[in-house]
Amino acid sequence: MHFTTLASGSSGNAILVGDDNRHLLVDCGISGKSLLYNLSLVNIADSEIEGIVVTHEHVDHIRGVGVLARKFKIPIYATKGLWEVMSPLLGKLDENQHRVVQESFSCAGLDVLLYPTSHDSRESYGLKVSRPKRKDKQNLAVGIATDSGTITEAMHRHLKGCDAFVVEANYDDQMLKFGSYPAYLKRRIGGQYGHLENKQLAEGLKEWMTENTQRVVLAHLSKENNTPEIALATVLRILRDSDRSREYGDVQVQVAPRHSPHELIVLKE
Ligand SMILES: [Zn+2]
Ligand SMILES: [Zn+2]
Repeated sequence: MHFTTLASGSSGNAILVGDDNRHLLVDCGISGKSLLYNLSLVNIADSEIEGIVVTHEHVDHIRGVGVLARKFKIPIYATKGLWEVMSPLLGKLDENQHRVVQESFSCAGLDVLLYPTSHDSRESYGLKVSRPKRKDKQNLAVGIATDSGTITEAMHRHLKGCDAFVVEANYDDQMLKFGSYPAYLKRRIGGQYGHLENKQLAEGLKEWMTENTQRVVLAHLSKENNTPEIALATVLRILRDSDRSREYGDVQVQVAPRHSPHELIVLKE
């Protein structure tokens, strides 16, 4: 099983998760053209994408969804509430491209579980994408959490013990506080339905990581209120200071690039 980010941040988000040559895309917040280019950089063909799962209707998550789905006849998976607000924004789609889902479903041979996040959209979800248990292979899971103002109970429930994480480290509280954003925007980002602060995320990760954790990718960093260096240093410091740090040891933590793909991360069996 493998995964990567294809773009990350308020200019557009897309995450790819797959096993063998079957893949699902989580969001497509960049143009269809950019998505295809970034896919080619990690040597994945468009024909290998079997579905697009949408976390919420903000433009940085759906910008290229309609184009991509139309061009390659890829089905789109979303909850009923999300479809209602999202479909007018996607343009014309064939009826059979709509996949209305509830909290769990399968796509590209992977099990997908949606859980709610705390965000100012109609509905908003994080995911746990798992490879079903097979005779000769252990099951593996990638936990995904972006666009949430708080660490929710559902996150604790579903992310604990995942083998890898793509999680939001959106802002540094001091950079937001003293930065140039207008007061209302600072309140939105820092509020209960905004985004996760670096330390907030690290406190969550501390609970979710176990001896099985292989990789952590920090995602959806703010361009104005964070830097890759600050996000990484803050998260690593908190993880190292944790009294559980011995349990998860030297897990590789990296930052998702904003416009280009992260290298493809292959999970160890
Ligand atoms: Zn959002
Ligand atoms: Zn977003």
